[in-house]
Amino acid sequence: MPYLHPCKTINSFDEQASYEAAIRENSDNGTTTSTGGRKKRGVATHTKFWASHRTLKIAFLDPPSDAHRQAALEAIKQWQSSINLTLEFANNAEGDIRISMEAPLNYSAIGTDATLRGPGENTMNIGTELTHPGFEGAVLHEFGHALGMEHEHQHPKADIPWNKPAVYHFYLTAYNWSKEEVDHNLFRKLETTNTRITPYDPTSIMHYSIPNELTIGDWSVGKNKTISKNDRRLMRRAYPKA
Ligand SMILES: [Zn+2]
Repeated sequence: MPYLHPCKTINSFDEQASYEAAIRENSDNGTTTSTGGRKKRGVATHTKFWASHRTLKIAFLDPPSDAHRQAALEAIKQWQSSINLTLEFANNAEGDIRISMEAPLNYSAIGTDATLRGPGENTMNIGTELTHPGFEGAVLHEFGHALGMEHEHQHPKADIPWNKPAVYHFYLTAYNWSKEEVDHNLFRKLETTNTRITPYDPTSIMHYSIPNELTIGDWSVGKNKTISKNDRRLMRRAYPKA
């Protein structure tokens, strides 16, 4: 059975442009307190949350079928109760979030980075097939990115006991990822978003699954399929209702 390709975030954006887009949308993205309590401000550490209480318009670009679109839409709606944004689904291709559904890759821009994509370009791709049992989890994960969430396994407090040679070998043979791609998507720690607001959470929908063979000792994370309590807490803090 082929492995599901792990998600990669779209981060081909200029750091300065990403920072400016985040501030233009929501000035709170510029000033945040790191986990250590220090005040930080700058291009590498800004958050990418949308402006509170705004309407976020979601469009699908050539969905394979109505059923496919509808299944993604239902999964996305699971986020609604934890945010103060209004999620609105467009009937055409125009939206703040533009979703294509071409197999097999899953990827998304993080939060306000979506504003840096060209008007006809997707901001997210759901490559997991509708018939796959991982479809709903894949949509929940990608939409978490669209709301500004980063990968949880890159939380600075993650302390995952990686067996690095095994990880490089597995990702190379299963997905043809280079050492640099593995470093960037798995081992690199992030100082942004999730990492400052909530503690490390291995049950997060934003965590990669990590089989025991890729760690030292008895340590693994299964394929998370639902939005965790911690994920909801993070979203309530980023988009408070009161
Ligand atoms: Zn991801």
